[in-house]
Amino acid sequence: MIVAPALGALFAGALAHGAFYPNSPIFGRVISKIGDDEAVVALTFDDGPNPEATPVILDALASRGAKASFFILGRHAQRWPDLVRRISDEGHAVCNHGFYHRKLHFKSPGYVRTDLQLGTEAIVGACGARPAFFRAPHGFRSPWVTAIARSLGQRTVGWGRGVWDTALPGVEVIAERTVRVAKPGSILLLHDGDGYDPLGDRTQTARAVPLIIDRIRDAGLEFATLEMAA
Ligand SMILES: [Zn+2]
Repeated sequence: MIVAPALGALFAGALAHGAFYPNSPIFGRVISKIGDDEAVVALTFDDGPNPEATPVILDALASRGAKASFFILGRHAQRWPDLVRRISDEGHAVCNHGFYHRKLHFKSPGYVRTDLQLGTEAIVGACGARPAFFRAPHGFRSPWVTAIARSLGQRTVGWGRGVWDTALPGVEVIAERTVRVAKPGSILLLHDGDGYDPLGDRTQTARAVPLIIDRIRDAGLEFATLEMAA
């Protein structure tokens, strides 16, 4: 019989797709675009706050009147609650990225629930706002990650094509790649922090943000938070 192995391979392939593709619907619905092909994009920042990069990014957003969504890591929020408060006070969306930043696709439901709850509590404790959106570390999920997020009142978010700013390719390359993948409805993934090193260097991304905002506007697109677009 070759049918069983073939089905097995298909099943394994589907599971791998659900686990590793951030926008895959196999393990529950994920927001991978915003709006109805309106001329808006969502700038999203993961893994912060970070004491060097986040204030520079907030300054750039404020001076240009642009809003963004921050997927805050609970561990870093506990260390820099003032930055979380500033993100919220300045009208950006505070979103949950969990607490420990471990990949969740092989973790038990109990582990996932605790991680998402601790992340939520760190954000609420810092700024009083409850996150309405969750993004899994690296986008890796299992059958229960999206359902657990939903039970906490959080919709799971993916992203569009990658920019890979974490590889530190340089300010101009980060700006150029981000602008290239920005289409109506795009969710753009950048990083204001490092998911592992609380003091990790994200200054290239921070310095690219003014260029990104100006050039995306030149292309006729405006910025919306996930909350504004939902
Ligand atoms: Zn992350």
